Amino acid sequence: MPDPNGFLRYPRRMPARRPVPVRISDWREVYPPAGEELTREQATRCMDCGIPFCHDGCPLGNRIPDWNDLVRTGNWDAAVESLHATNNFPEFTGRLCPAPCEAACVLGIGGGEPVTIKQVEVEIANAAVARGGLLPRPVPAPSGRSVAVVGSGPAGLAAAQQLARAGHAVTVYERDDAIGGLLRYGIPDFKLEKEHIDRRLAQLAAEGVRFRTGVDVGVDVTAEQLRAEHDAVLLACGALQGRDTPETPGRQLRGVHQAMTHLVAANRVVAAAAGGAPGTAVLPDGTPIDAAGKHVVIIGGGDTAADCLGVAHRQGAAGVHQLDLYPEPPQARDEARDPWPTWPWVLRNYPAHEEGGDRVFAVAVQEFVDDGTGQVRAVRIAEVTVEKRDGRRIVTALPGSERELPADLVLLAIGFEGTEEQPLLDQLGVGRNARGAIDARPDWQTAADGVFVAGDMHRGASLIVWAIAEGRAAAAAIHAYLDGPGQLPAPVSVATQPLAAR
Ligand SMILES: Cc1cc2nc3c(=O)[nH]c(=O)nc-3n(C[C@H](O)[C@H](O)[C@H](O)COP(=O)(O)OP(=O)(O)OC[C@H]3O[C@@H](n4cnc5c(N)ncnc54)[C@H](O)[C@@H]3O)c2cc1C
Ligand code: SF4
Repeated sequence: MPDPNGFLRYPRRMPARRPVPVRISDWREVYPPAGEELTREQATRCMDCGIPFCHDGCPLGNRIPDWNDLVRTGNWDAAVESLHATNNFPEFTGRLCPAPCEAACVLGIGGGEPVTIKQVEVEIANAAVARGGLLPRPVPAPSGRSVAVVGSGPAGLAAAQQLARAGHAVTVYERDDAIGGLLRYGIPDFKLEKEHIDRRLAQLAAEGVRFRTGVDVGVDVTAEQLRAEHDAVLLACGALQGRDTPETPGRQLRGVHQAMTHLVAANRVVAAAAGGAPGTAVLPDGTPIDAAGKHVVIIGGGDTAADCLGVAHRQGAAGVHQLDLYPEPPQARDEARDPWPTWPWVLRNYPAHEEGGDRVFAVAVQEFVDDGTGQVRAVRIAEVTVEKRDGRRIVTALPGSERELPADLVLLAIGFEGTEEQPLLDQLGVGRNARGAIDARPDWQTAADGVFVAGDMHRGASLIVWAIAEGRAAAAAIHAYLDGPGQLPAPVSVATQPLAAR
């Protein structure tokens, strides 16, 4: 039985992050491992609730109280087994998930301090590697059926592993030069060092998954060819269509870029330095991929913006402003607006924020200002209010509130508009819906028979934990479509949504 007084004896504690001056001089992860003593202490805080709401917060249905107690008692091998029963890649979610499970933890009621679920998770993932590594699971006799997975992000990889472990022949097609989707070149190394991906890929390969990089499906291979060669196709191409602001004067200036253009290029340089494929030294317009010595303005308030901030610090920016359209969120959950156990709107401080830079809330860019040579030299901003009217967002600038911020480099991190328009979709006769996503029938098939969809491509830009959950569910649907024996686990349906107050 779990310790009934653990949460009374121990406050919530996280491992110390690496000191800012040290970590911004390299690209290594911000968090060092927590150590066994702290991890077991923190796992002891879990009350093993009769109705564990942490489960409802997590789309994977992770068995959180079970593995908390296994860690508390030092049963690491069993904890590794329990965690992997619902999550193919805890080393990714443990490092990167914003942890809706913690927002839903019973210990968080009334402003209390939830269990450090995510930290326990990553330590179990570390233990898996330390105690014998990620060994391949034995796979059953070949089913004789084959599946093509298009896109190698967490959704595609989770589905691939589930299907391979069910005996199907799986080939993952990826247009990039390396496997991993956004984990590989979107998310910087200081959040996820790439050895974690490589280690997991070795396991998938040993379980029979084949990887084909540098293949843009729809261009290098047609959809017809893919359907002829495989019994089923899973689309997991992400939601990589970046939102832009073409109407803002000066958008065409040199030095104003989509955040992902800068981020991916910067991450490629890091990968090249670590022995990967050569990084691109300049952007297509000739701008060096470097914030060194520059005044950087990042527009947006989410993960992408925070990642740009961390990159700018490590590249040696002279100064960074991060602009957000919305007012500064409260420090603590507003129970009237977002009651426990829903995901609260609160000020989120990423590690990048303690490294420097100024956050400016409730402002909108009115103009990117030209230095006279076609290069941006400043952004002109105004204070704004934002209202929702008839489902539309109305942004109103306050008269007389305009001012300039110096800017040599402006990064647009203002969200994504769904999956990209690409030849593959036309070839399959599958269209994007009003959100830019691809609709799925209840059995995860798209409008094209035998062609399934999962992850951001179906859900719109979301989270890794949802991508893995959808990948697992789509794999279960494909297994049923192929008349595979038994059932694979399906943690979510096509209609599942995060916990919400109704
Ligand atoms: C900068 C950034 C930081 C983020 N940080 C976090 C975070 O900290 N925590 C978190 O939970 N989530 C984070 N996210 C979101 C998370 O990365 C995504 O939700 C997740 O990666 C979606 O997984 P996916 O498998 O659906 O697609 P993706 O990871 O986007 O992978 C799709 C893949 O499909 C490939 N592809 C597309 N079309 C084709 C084609 N025709 N042929 C072959 N390949 C194709 C693409 O090249 C890509 O590799 C972040 C997102 C961004 C942009
Ligand atoms: S809700 Fe919190 S305390 Fe309860 S079982 Fe889940 S992690 Fe443990």
